[in-house]
Amino acid sequence: MHDATPPRAPLALYAIGLGSNRRHVRHGDPRRVLLAALAALESDDIEPVDASPIIASAPLGPSRRRYANAVALVASPLPPPDLLERLQTIEASFGRRTGQRWCARTLDLDILLWSGGAWSDPALTIPHPAMAERDFVLGPLRTIVPRWRHPLLRHSIRQLAARLVQAKPVDRSGSAH
Ligand code: ATP
Ligand code: MG
Ligand code: MG
Repeated sequence: MHDATPPRAPLALYAIGLGSNRRHVRHGDPRRVLLAALAALESDDIEPVDASPIIASAPLGPSRRRYANAVALVASPLPPPDLLERLQTIEASFGRRTGQRWCARTLDLDILLWSGGAWSDPALTIPHPAMAERDFVLGPLRTIVPRWRHPLLRHSIRQLAARLVQAKPVDRSGSAH
C-alpha cells in the first residue's frame, strides 16, 4: 500500500498587515476593501486564523487620504517568498499599481511576522523593518498576538506597542502603510 498524497510542508504562522487608502470601484471605501482582502486571503494553502479590528489612521505623508489598517493571522505551508508572491497577486487583483511606494493605494499587504523568525533577501525582509515604529501596525497586531516576541528586538508586541506610545505619541515614520 502506498499513499498518493504528497507530504505537506509544516504549517507556519504569519501576521499580515493590511492597508488601504483608496476606494475600490466594486468593493467601496477602504474599510470594505480590507474586508474583501481578508476574504481574498483564504485559499487552499492560506488558512485565516484570526483578524484584528479594522482601524482608521490618519495620513501623514504625500497622500492626504485616511487609511484603513488591520492585521490578519494566517497559517500556511508556503515559504515566505511564495507567500509574498501570493500577496502581490492579491494586491494586483485589487488594482494596485506597482512602482508607487507610499502613495495612495487600493491595497497594501505586508508580511509583518513569521513563526520561522527572521528572513532576509533582496525582495523580502521579515520582520517588516518599520513595524516597531508604526502604531497602525502594533495597535491591530496587539489585539491578536500580544505575546508574540519580535525575533530581533526580543520584545513582545505588547511591549513594543507600549514603548511606542511612551516614546512617540505621534507616528513620524512616514506615510508608508
Ligand atoms: P513599506 O514596506 O514601508 O510599508 P510599502 O508597503 O508601501 O512600504 P510596497 O510598495 O508595498 O511598499 O513594497 C515594496 C517592496 O517591498 C516589495 O516589492 C517587496 O519586495 C518589498 N518587501 C520587503 N519586505 C517586505 C515585507 N515584509 N512585506 C511585503 N513587502 C516587502
Ligand atoms: Mg507593501
Ligand atoms: Mg506597507
